[in-house]
Parts: sequence; C-alpha cells; structure tokens
Amino acid sequence: MRTELIFTGSELLLGHVLNTHAQYIGRRLSEIGIEIILHTTVGDEWERMAMILRQALTRSELIITTGGLGPTTDDLTKETVADVLGLPMVLDESSLARIKAHFAERGVAMPESITKQAYLPEGAHVLPNPRGTAPGILIEKDKKIILMLPGPPSELVEIFESSLTPYLAAWASRGVVTRHRIYKLTGIAESAVQDQLKDLGRQSNPGIAYLVMPGEVHVRMTAKAGNAEKAEKMVSDLAEKVRRRLGGYIFGYDEEVLEEVVGRLLLDAGLTVGIAESCTGGLIAARLTGIPGSSGYLRGGVVAYNDSIKRDILGVPAQTLREYGAVSKQTAVVMAEGVRKLSGADLGLSVTGVAGPSGGTPAKPVGLVYICLAADDGTCCREYRLPGARTAIRQGTVNAALNLLRHYLLAR
Ligand code: ATP
Repeated sequence: MRTELIFTGSELLLGHVLNTHAQYIGRRLSEIGIEIILHTTVGDEWERMAMILRQALTRSELIITTGGLGPTTDDLTKETVADVLGLPMVLDESSLARIKAHFAERGVAMPESITKQAYLPEGAHVLPNPRGTAPGILIEKDKKIILMLPGPPSELVEIFESSLTPYLAAWASRGVVTRHRIYKLTGIAESAVQDQLKDLGRQSNPGIAYLVMPGEVHVRMTAKAGNAEKAEKMVSDLAEKVRRRLGGYIFGYDEEVLEEVVGRLLLDAGLTVGIAESCTGGLIAARLTGIPGSSGYLRGGVVAYNDSIKRDILGVPAQTLREYGAVSKQTAVVMAEGVRKLSGADLGLSVTGVAGPSGGTPAKPVGLVYICLAADDGTCCREYRLPGARTAIRQGTVNAALNLLRHYLLAR
C-alpha cells in the first residue's frame, strides 16, 4: 500500500513548530509494516492543499493528513478533502452530541464556531478524540483511504493508538511486512562499524542503515517479506551475524538507552553511584534521573564547574589545580574519590574536560576529557579526545562516562 503523509500548517513552514508528527507517524507506520513513500508539508492555504491532495491521490493508496481540523477559518483540511473528492459536507449528529457533552462536562459555554467540527465529508467515519473536540476522520473511496488527524500531538497520538493501529495493521498484513531491529553501540566509530559490516550492508533486503550521534552508533536492520514470520526471521538472522561481529560494543537494543542499561546493572550489583561533573554541568545526573527508579542507585551529584567547588566541596588540592589544571587526570581522580566520599556512594564518577569553543590550548585542545571512576578496589581514569563542537562534546562525554561505568559493572 503506497502511503504518503501531508502535514498542514503554515507554522511548520515558518519553522515556528517542529514537525514531530513526521517522526511519530513515520516510526509507528514502519513498526506496523507500512512503507511511506513521501512527505509533504503545506501551509493553511486552500489552493495549495487541494493541489497536493490531487497529486497524492494519483500516486498513493493511503494518504494521512495532520492538522487543520479545528474550528478556525484557517482550518481547511476536511473541507479541502471533501471538495477534491466531490463529497458534500454533512452534519454528523453523534459528533455534535460529543462536542456538546465535552463542553458541558467542563461547565463552559460552547462557542458557536465549534459546531464546524461536527461537519464531515459525506460517508466519512469518525475516529473518536477523547482529548479534544476535533475527531479524526477516515474516508474510504475509490480504493483510496484518506485519514485526517488533528494537529495537537497528544490528540493525534491518542487517536492513532486507540483507533488506527488495529485498522492499519489489518491493511499492512495484506501486503509487505517490515521488521526492524536496532543495535546501539558505543566506544566504536561509525567508519569502523561499517568496515566490519561491509559485506552484510551490500544487500538491500535485509538491509542495514547507520545512525550516528555523539558517542553512539546505531545499526538499524530492516527486513521486508510477504508475512511477519518471514520478515522476523530475516531480520533476526541478520541481527545475529551483526551481534557476533560487534557484540562487545553493543550496549542496548531498539528503544533501550544507555542510562537505562547502566541503571539496571547498578541495581543488579546492588551498588550506588555519586557523580562529580564539570564540563557536562549536570547532564549525567539528568540522564540517570530520567529513568524511573533511579533513586535506587544514584546517591547524588555535584556540578563542580568552578575550581573553587572542585577544591572546597570535592577536596581537589589547590596545588593539584595549579600544577596540573582543572582538566587533568590528577584533578579528575580526586573529583571521583571526593564525590564518592561526599555522597557515601559505592562508586564515584567524575568528568572534567574542555567543551569549547574557547579554552583550548595545544596541550589541552577542545574535546580533551578525563573520566574517572572511583571504587573500593581502586580508581581508574581514562583520557578521551572527543570530536565535534560543544554540544557534541558534552553529549559524547555523558555517553563515554556512562559507558565506563557500564564496563566496570560488567567486568566485576
Ligand atoms: P486545533 O483544534 O487545535 O486548531 P487542528 O487539527 O486544527 O487543531 P492545527 O491548528 O493545525 O490543528 O495545529 C494545532 C497545534 O498542533 C499547533 O499549534 C501545533 O503546535 C501542533 N501541531 C500541528 N502540526 C504539528 C506537527 N506536524 N508536529 C508537531 N506539532 C504540530
């Protein structure tokens, strides 16, 4: 089933709103096994929307639109669809009753303009919207399916999950089924990953794609087949070959994130950690605390950005700071041991580095980072040269620190 998406809204073209629907719908359809051939974004302008819609009808069987279902005059989607398909707009009594109930429940008078939302193209099916007043709309006509979803992300997701997933899955199972697997790697460069998988990456089905982010490489494997079982077997076989070659670098699968993996290892080991952060300014603690239940292993942290905090709170001697500098192995070691003691944790993790853009010298260039882990059996420290600009270096530092912790926990 050839599928395309039409995102409506001038705010998307102007860059005022990031098009998160593209990501969400793209991911969900690919999980369901529906392949998208094209995206278009169009402003709230009747002529252009009609033009895009007519073109879409010539090449795709499933067309999903987002936005423009509201009550204001710039909300034009269903009227445009009705016009292009030659369908009159008719009042849907059940939608009107639902909208009235929505306002009555909240004790708010219903604006007259809102009744516009109860008019639908003739023959359309309503996809209930428990979070708002504009329902989603489904039209099946001349072997084409048009789905209209409201713009507000929470409403779109609710309708997609509750009303559309089973409907679309039934369609998907009639055609080609796609299955994905993602391996997340750290501690290895993208080029090295590609080199190791060169022969496997030549074919397109099952195929391999790479996604690089600071400190991580994601290997995404995709298989397409006539049924789910076959696609699953193809992707599993490929994944097994990739795992045999790169297993040591894989920290997670699919949706898993590094902090989740580290948290689980800490819980399993019954260990706690305290963190001293300089160049990352609290990002490591933020990542760890993003995982529910992290209080079970994270004792706390110190953002030791200024030398005086490294000295007065973490106990880095003034002489160490003078002699070796804030970005040095010597300082990082004391930071890790200091935060371990201060927080009463089993492990102390510290980072100090030059995130740039200024502050680099030939001896200590931008990207130089020291990461240390202090434990009862000693302190280990590693030097890193991280690529990229400030944001990438800081994110890379977080991943490298979490990965150091992961390796320590795996090796215990
Ligand atoms: P409403 O009843 O709120 O007017 P609507 O269906 O008419 O809903 P829009 O007016 O197009 O939808 O968008 C409502 C809000 O949803 C926008 O302000 C925007 O913040 C958000 N939105 C719309 N499209 C997208 C998108 N593609 N990605 C992320 N957010 C979006």
